[in-house]
Amino acid sequence: MVFADLREFLRCLEEQGELARVHVEVEKDHEIGAICRKVNDHAGPGLLFEKVRGYSVPLACNLLGTKKRFAMALGTSDGALTEEWLRRTSLPPINPVLISRGACQENIFVGDGLDLLKMFPIPIWNELDGGPFITLPIVISRDPETGIRNAAMYRLQVHERNKLGILMAPYRHTEIHRGKASAEGRGLPVAIAIGTDPAVALAALAPLPFGVDEFAMAGALRGEPVEVVRCKTVDLEVPATAEIVLEGEILVGETKEEGPYGDFTGYYGAKVKRPVVEIKAITHRDNPIYHGLYNGRPPTEEQIIRGLPIEMDIARQCPLPGIRKINLTMGGCGAFNCVVSIEKQFEGYGKMIAMAVLGTWGARFVKTLIIVDDDIDPFDWNQVEWALATRVQPHRDVEIIRDVVGCILDPSLPLQERQSGRSRTSKMIIDATKYDAAEFEVPCQPRQDVMEEVTREWAKYGIGVPSGSSRLP
Ligand code: MN
Repeated sequence: MVFADLREFLRCLEEQGELARVHVEVEKDHEIGAICRKVNDHAGPGLLFEKVRGYSVPLACNLLGTKKRFAMALGTSDGALTEEWLRRTSLPPINPVLISRGACQENIFVGDGLDLLKMFPIPIWNELDGGPFITLPIVISRDPETGIRNAAMYRLQVHERNKLGILMAPYRHTEIHRGKASAEGRGLPVAIAIGTDPAVALAALAPLPFGVDEFAMAGALRGEPVEVVRCKTVDLEVPATAEIVLEGEILVGETKEEGPYGDFTGYYGAKVKRPVVEIKAITHRDNPIYHGLYNGRPPTEEQIIRGLPIEMDIARQCPLPGIRKINLTMGGCGAFNCVVSIEKQFEGYGKMIAMAVLGTWGARFVKTLIIVDDDIDPFDWNQVEWALATRVQPHRDVEIIRDVVGCILDPSLPLQERQSGRSRTSKMIIDATKYDAAEFEVPCQPRQDVMEEVTREWAKYGIGVPSGSSRLP
């Protein structure tokens, strides 16, 4: 199933009972954030706020807030998601197709008087946020040298009616484009699409290497090309069915304090002078829908959409065989803690594959990497902890690697490094696989043939717990 736009996805969610429409009037600032916090804590439904006070534009959020809905966005199921992601991303990318007219330009506003704050219900989400934040913008730019397109998500703070602050770490692709333009004394033209077919948003979120066109990868994920139209004031293309498009440029030589903002780490981060985007044109569909996301300490939708593409792409990018399952944990913010189960080929392979995993672009935020044997389910914390408890000797199985590129939002790093962007982190490998596996003690359990018989005859005991529980293989 391929979605043509956000609206088709909303309809699908509603048909499947995965969308709640909020009919009562809500305040865009703080009230929507508070509702989202509660809904996220309970892995609740996608939300469509139909009446936001002072606005005619409705706000959709939490649409991808569970693994099930993430899978639905790609027309697959929870259980088949990783396999499908790997299959589709291994196919040749499908380049977007340029069409002459797109719904995203049904309404066009150019020049003076543009006022983002009046047009769209952009919320203040968490208490100490420095202002309203656009949280699901697909920022599109072109490499000034090669012309290759990039599309990625960055938080955007609305400073004033036509000016946005943008947070891009030094290793982010749009920042590399900005650096190249700025070295020539020019600003970087950008287009910002809000509310697209979810596959486009997920491709923009995925940790794809520099130089990969996310729209072409979105085509591979959808199995059909993304249709794009030319922007009105910048030499860029945008998804034709986007709800809202902002056109403008990242100004050369202008910065303004951005933040604080409650981000995926669960903290606000520092207020720092960051680049400014000036908006010069706004286009939108008739009756546009604004698409946002609540961000904060886990669990939220943010850790789902951040973590799952990384988790799946580590498997794709790791050059060594033997990975069985990867869990970039929710409590680890979908970024910092990772458990990988492997089929260990030979002694020493646990640490070897750990280095390969940490060498992928996808794993650049991972700080604690736990490698387990494939009899351990990385998604079952009791099993992981059992491996840590019974298969690990810290002096032998723990390695610390110092001064690797760190996440600028990681609150455990010194403030100065986070503010300057020169953040360096250390990383820990815990090899929790069996040491000398051939001689390692055998895990205890009842006799296998009796276990099988008991499972077959389970109902007769009248105990009530399901026979398929993990205690009864
Ligand atoms: Mn990129």
